[in-house]
Amino acid sequence: MTPSTGIAPVAFSRSFADPEGSPIRELFRHLAQPAMISFAGGYPSPALLDAEGLEQACAQCWGDAAASLQYGPTEGNADLRESLAGLSRGRGVACDARDVLVTTGSQQAFDILVRIFIEPGDAVVVEAPAYPAALQALRLAGASILQVPVDEHGMQVDMLREMLAVRGTQGRPKLLYTVPNYSNPSGTLLSAERRTALVALAIEHGFLIIEDDPYGQLYFDEPPGDSLHAVGRTCAGASNPVIYLSSLSKTVAPSLRIGWMVAPDRVLRRSVVAKQTMDLCTSPLAQRIAATYLALDRYEAAVLRSRATYGARMQAMTLHIDNHLHGQLTYLRPLGGMFIWARTVAPVDPDRLFHACVKAGVLFVPGKAFFAAQPDRHAMRLSYAAPDIHDIGEGVNRLAGVFRQLQEQPT
Ligand code: PMP
Repeated sequence: MTPSTGIAPVAFSRSFADPEGSPIRELFRHLAQPAMISFAGGYPSPALLDAEGLEQACAQCWGDAAASLQYGPTEGNADLRESLAGLSRGRGVACDARDVLVTTGSQQAFDILVRIFIEPGDAVVVEAPAYPAALQALRLAGASILQVPVDEHGMQVDMLREMLAVRGTQGRPKLLYTVPNYSNPSGTLLSAERRTALVALAIEHGFLIIEDDPYGQLYFDEPPGDSLHAVGRTCAGASNPVIYLSSLSKTVAPSLRIGWMVAPDRVLRRSVVAKQTMDLCTSPLAQRIAATYLALDRYEAAVLRSRATYGARMQAMTLHIDNHLHGQLTYLRPLGGMFIWARTVAPVDPDRLFHACVKAGVLFVPGKAFFAAQPDRHAMRLSYAAPDIHDIGEGVNRLAGVFRQLQEQPT
């Protein structure tokens, strides 16, 4: 059969000759299965989206429809930049509106930084496991990806120190990408000692740290402590090696696609040029809605609700795992965020486990998605953010049922 559209066989660029798609987005087709319980997405709970507040904000924006419907500056809407600078300062990130670039999700902020810093072959350090979309961007840029394993206190900075010593000046990384607060996927919080040690290594070896912080506000008990950006400023003043990224996706609404970058002028100027070729500017309508929403004074209350809800859901998931999967799964207990990183204790074939779980109606992300190399195939990411407490219990029961079934039919 002749396809309905075709194209002459011109070669794609080297990066896109055979690109890998997002391993997480590929799982979404299973969501069409009736009654599937998903621990797979990093989606906020639908019940927590402040639809009422956003409706109010939208109504106000339509009051000045002409401004809402026009192009805007690449740097971002002035009011929104002010508000995002204020939110950042509240997290110890010293900045003002001029230091903020509004981006189309924080995903774009990372992609921009990769574009402006990385040439094929340049070394970039990531955590192992790491956020897959960051790995995807680095792979497309041809970066040489160096993995540093994570334990319950985040990236193991001692191992990074050893790696840097072995590589010497020739193999110096340019960038290090980390999610220090309740990381995706490991859920871990980088300890205060490691934050200081990491910044000291960046200063000593001359690399930049990209601090990606979409989850830092979603703590369960204590706030996460000093941002890497704050530590960098204390240690290096105006030569701070840390660029800060954050997002409204997990605390307001992912559909707004509002993220931001806090960086010095020499980085922001180049980032603006890169962004001009991507989208000219982040949706001015979404920016105005976000700026108006943040001015309504509902954000803090919404974040408080998210903390309480996610804390309760994390408790429910860990309790069910302890009760029904004791001896089958080990996991890191998160202090905030949306994710539990778990490993099977007994040797279970990961593909068999995954397919049996899909059949039983429970979805998770297999561990291999989170590594640039040497994947931990016996790990899995479980998100408790979107399903309610009942579904969390039912989903863990289904998982436990699959483990029983696989033990009864070993092959
Ligand atoms: N960084 C991390 C660690 C994330 O988990 C996500 C979203 N899953 C992003 C960045 C991208 O967020 P945004 O919606 O702001 O692009």
